[in-house]
Amino acid sequence: MEYVFEPNQIACVSVLDTSTHFPVHRIYCVGQNYADHVREMGGEPKQAPPVFFSKPADAIVTDNKDVPYPSATNNLHYEVELVIALGKGGKNIAADAALDCVYGYAVGIDFTRRDLQAAAKSAGRPWDAAKGFDGSAPISAINPVARIGHPSNSVIELSVNGELKQQSNIENMIWSVAEIIAELSCFFELAPGDLIYTGTPAGVSAVVAGDSISAAVQDVGEISFKVV
Ligand code: MN
Repeated sequence: MEYVFEPNQIACVSVLDTSTHFPVHRIYCVGQNYADHVREMGGEPKQAPPVFFSKPADAIVTDNKDVPYPSATNNLHYEVELVIALGKGGKNIAADAALDCVYGYAVGIDFTRRDLQAAAKSAGRPWDAAKGFDGSAPISAINPVARIGHPSNSVIELSVNGELKQQSNIENMIWSVAEIIAELSCFFELAPGDLIYTGTPAGVSAVVAGDSISAAVQDVGEISFKVV
């Protein structure tokens, strides 16, 4: 094929302890998936359908690289999340078949321009500028299911400058990994290479340039980087 200019490189995430890479297709995110975080954002947790939004594939930041503080915000919030990495896709996937689609898991940060999100929420406008900006999706190496299985009871935590800010357990997710994949596949045809950020527990707050963030999901992995 002849392109009018050289295409951009495919966004890739390392597979833990290997020389192989996971090519990213799309990034989906789940909002409001831990009751304590829903409450801290002023909402009421309920079993309504999950909230989905997305980020561009090249919003990832890998290998613990520095994350530049983004433009157009004075209130950049971290959100630590379990990330699902799909090795298979499909439409209308049944919940009891959904885990077969998972290649592995990672730890990710869903960075949020909270001031822009609050303005968008109150005006009934989309969240894209609040969620889908450059560098908004740091991610650890992917840990394959072949090695760790499907974690369901793991501590998830995040510290800023060594101070613990978020700590919960992924068993507290309102929507499970299988339920998220099944529900999401009713809206979008999922594909190998899709990443799904599964929501954050309570304790979100702002960071500034110079802050060091470290986060982990037990048995899955860890991430550690600086905002610059
Ligand atoms: Mn989030």
